[in-house]
Formats: sequence, structure tokens, C-alpha cells
Amino acid sequence: MAEVRYEAASRVYPGSPPVRAVDGLDLSIDDGEFLVLVGPSGSGKSTALRMLAGLEEVDEGRVWIGSRDVTAVPPKGRDIAMVFQSYALYPHMTVAQNMGFALKLQGLTKAVIAEKVTEAARLLDLERYLDRKPKALSGGQRQRVAMGRAIVRDPAVFLMDEPLSNLDAKLRVETRANIAALQRRLGTTTIYVTHDQVEAMTMGHRVAVLKDGLLQQCDTPRALYDRPDNAFVAGFIGSPSMNLRLTEVTADGVAVGGLPIPLPRESLAAVTAGGMTEVTLGIRPESLTPVGAEAPGFDLAVELVEELGADALVHGSLPQDADPTRLVLRVDGRTPPALGATIRVAVRNPEELHLFHPESGDRLI
Ligand code: ADP
Ligand code: MG
Repeated sequence: MAEVRYEAASRVYPGSPPVRAVDGLDLSIDDGEFLVLVGPSGSGKSTALRMLAGLEEVDEGRVWIGSRDVTAVPPKGRDIAMVFQSYALYPHMTVAQNMGFALKLQGLTKAVIAEKVTEAARLLDLERYLDRKPKALSGGQRQRVAMGRAIVRDPAVFLMDEPLSNLDAKLRVETRANIAALQRRLGTTTIYVTHDQVEAMTMGHRVAVLKDGLLQQCDTPRALYDRPDNAFVAGFIGSPSMNLRLTEVTADGVAVGGLPIPLPRESLAAVTAGGMTEVTLGIRPESLTPVGAEAPGFDLAVELVEELGADALVHGSLPQDADPTRLVLRVDGRTPPALGATIRVAVRNPEELHLFHPESGDRLI
């Protein structure tokens, strides 16, 4: 087991212009932690993981595993095990042979290999399949064999790059819970890459959000949701996404669709201090609520209703607003408004609003 550290680590792919796929990454992962790297496609997640695995050059900065600077250490010497999206199982080998192959290369005896493989197979519920070839396994079973191959090596760190993306939705949910439970049990430091923010939020002790090779924020799922550092993280974390819109600043707050929303004193102070006439206002879908027609609020023309069972998502536009972006609110699933209706909507609690700089997107308070 070990902690892991990226120290101003960059990977710059040559070209014109060169691509800073990972740009000055500073990130420390605790011993035993499950850290998720999340971000859109092309944000540098795989590159960051591969730098730690030794499969990618570190052009600037350093990477550490435990107390060892491994920046120049070849992959074999890093004591890591990696699970890829394509499980890369050997088709001509059985499950047991696939799982034990790395140990055989290490020169361990047959008896020791058999013991480790049996133990991993038990953890992964693969005992019945040890003699099968990969082609006779389901997608979920192959995924578990790939996990088993990493586990038998008992590495200091697990690195996983989108290991669930080949599974169907239901199996993915099941497997993500199993991987999280397995990691808790083994206590092995794990860095897990995904583009799926739900996967990130449900699995990670902490989640590091990347965009264009730059770390945006690294925090617990709760903190990312409640206090995103910038508008990008605000929009990326949470489903459906936070409503983000450029909003006029008034004397005592902001105005949405003609509805003045007074801001808490500290928020207002941050806005006035910056001399802003507009801010990017962030409102979570559950922070909006339908109210009676006479109550203070703004009118929303309902353009789409997604009924999810327990709740429903209502998408609509503000008739008196220049911004054509639809607002989304989460309402009780049993009483959704009708398509085409106009409903009155209010902000539940101004404390739940998020304010970001209109240009930089940085959180104001
Ligand atoms: P992610 O895993 O988040 O989708 P990657 O780490 O694969 O992102 O890629 C990050 C950026 O680096 C992308 O812009 C990608 O096009 C670029 N990139 C990745 N691999 C190479 C390579 N071998 N040569 C040049 N550019 C690359
Ligand atoms: Mg990738």
C-alpha cells in the first residue's frame, strides 16, 4: 500500500501546436484512498493515469508512489496493476491462466500461484469459471477476470481506466458497487478514471475533476456538489446539470425572468466588490420549486416533462428572458405540470444559489 503524488506533472504531446494533455497536475492521493479522475473526453484522464503507470512520459514535474520518486522508473518497477477498458485477456488461456500469468512471469511456484488465483476468484465470485476460456464468459465475468488479474499481484496501487464502459447499464451499476466494496476490503490505494460523473460521485472517496488537462477541483462528492469551485465543475457534477445563466445584478441581488432574488449579504458584497453588472447564476434543479399562481416567482413555459417515477424533470423557458437556455426543475413525480402549461416557479432558498464570475467562471463566494 502507498500514497501517490503528482507534483506539477505535465505531459506535452509534440505537434504544432503541442498538446498539454496534462498540465501542471498537483494531486496527492492518500494511502488506501479511492480517488476518481473524472472529466469529459479528451480532458487528460487516461494520460494522467498512464503517467503514473509509466506508460507515458512525464515531461515536467514528478510522480511519486509511496516515498519513491518513480518518474524515471520503468512500469515493471512501480508496483502497480492496471485494469483497462478493453480487458485484454489472452483468448487462448483459461481464466485461471489469465489471472496467474503475471505471477508465472515473476517466477512464483505453481502452488503459490494457484493459492493466489483461488483467493482472488473467491473474492470475485469466479471460482466456477476458472477452467473456461474468455470467449465462454459474459461481459461482466470478463470484467471480473481483468480485476482478478490485478488483484493477484497484490500491488501498492490499482489503476483503472474506464473498466465498466463495456458493460450494459444495469450491470455497470451493480459492478461499480462491487468494485467499491472490494476496494474497501482490500484497502489498496486506487485511482479510477471515468467520464461518467455519477460513477465518480458514487465510487470515489474524493473526486478530481479535469478539463483540458487542468485540474479544476478535487474534493469529496458532497463538497463538489455543494460548493463547486467554478462554473465548469458546477455544470459537470450533478444530473440533471445545474442551471447556469448570465444574470443581471440588481440593487439587492439578481433578477431571473423578472423575479428579483435578494442575495445573502456576503454574496452581494462579493458581487459589488467586483463591480459586476452581470454574474453567472447557478441554480440546482431541486432548488427551484413550483408555487401558486399568485406567489412571488417567475413564469415558466413548460416545454418538456421527463417523468422518472419518484420525481419528474420539468424543462421550460422564461417568456420574458433573452437567454434561450431552458431551465430545469425537479418536481414531485405524482403531480407534474402539463406540457404547454405555464407554471409559477420560485427559488426555494437563496442560500442554495451559486454565483460565478461572468468571464472566468470562478466561484464568487
Ligand atoms: P481522456 O482519457 O480524458 O479522454 P486523454 O488523456 O486520452 O483524454 O487525452 C488528452 C489529450 O491528449 C487529448 O486532446 C488527446 O487528443 C491528446 N492525446 C492523447 N494521446 C495522444 C498521443 N499519443 N499523441 C498526441 N495527442 C494525444
Ligand atoms: Mg481516456
